[in-house]
Amino acid sequence: MSTVALITGAASGIGAAVARRLSAGGVRCVLVDLDGEGAERLAKEVDGAWLAADVSAEEASLEAVALAERRFGRLDLVHLNAGISGQVDLARFDVARYRQVVGVNVDGVVFGIRAGLPLLARSGGGAIVATSSLAGLVAYSGDPIYTMTKHAVVGIVRGLAEPLAAQNIRISAVCPGFTDTPLVAEARQTFLNAGFPLLTAEDVAAAVESAFYSEIPGNLLIVQPGRPPVPYR
Ligand code: NAD
Repeated sequence: MSTVALITGAASGIGAAVARRLSAGGVRCVLVDLDGEGAERLAKEVDGAWLAADVSAEEASLEAVALAERRFGRLDLVHLNAGISGQVDLARFDVARYRQVVGVNVDGVVFGIRAGLPLLARSGGGAIVATSSLAGLVAYSGDPIYTMTKHAVVGIVRGLAEPLAAQNIRISAVCPGFTDTPLVAEARQTFLNAGFPLLTAEDVAAAVESAFYSEIPGNLLIVQPGRPPVPYR
């Protein structure tokens, strides 16, 4: 029986690279994204299932898990990856934007974990990987609300590592630095001029795959270009 993965934010960048990598290894994928057209296109390419949904609403995760069960009968891997940059100007506080960033980056991860657990457990256990960021481990003053949300992702992973391990479910996070995806298109040149190393989405996808199969609960992996990820201590 094939391994089944659910991936959020799967239509672009890191999520799409994870879907391609896992599918190439025989994993059946459920692709969730706000961008339904993108998710559908990729689902055709990798012969997966897809769902157009906003992960900041709990129903999105519940529907995605129900789709995994309907189409593939099980769930083994969950990659909670959908995320948006903050760009909340604290001086002229835009509450709607603030709620959106927290909704996608934090609620989307919490709801995804909650929705995935029963089917993971019924499938005999499995693994959850959240996409945090280097900004989840260190200060990134360029985008403080984004930094807050990525620290929150690290917090939920650490807090759940032990109780989930007792149910044979491992949870971990990948913490990439600047990765060449549409998310950072605007800031790309500034980052490059400042000498930041540039990761590819495939570098991060390789780290996500190794996080899925890591035996260390609560593992936090720093992603490196073209080399194995390094556990953060
Ligand atoms: P991306 O913009 O290429 O992909 C993000 C995907 O998430 C898009 O397909 C988008 O449609 C989807 N999405 C956005 N809001 C959503 C919502 N409410 N519901 C469902 N899907 C939604 O960006 P990426 O760089 O691949 O980002 C993936 C993850 O990696 C994010 O969590 C991001 O914070 C994190 N990350 C990115 C970088 C980087 O430098 N690119 C660095 C560290 C961490």
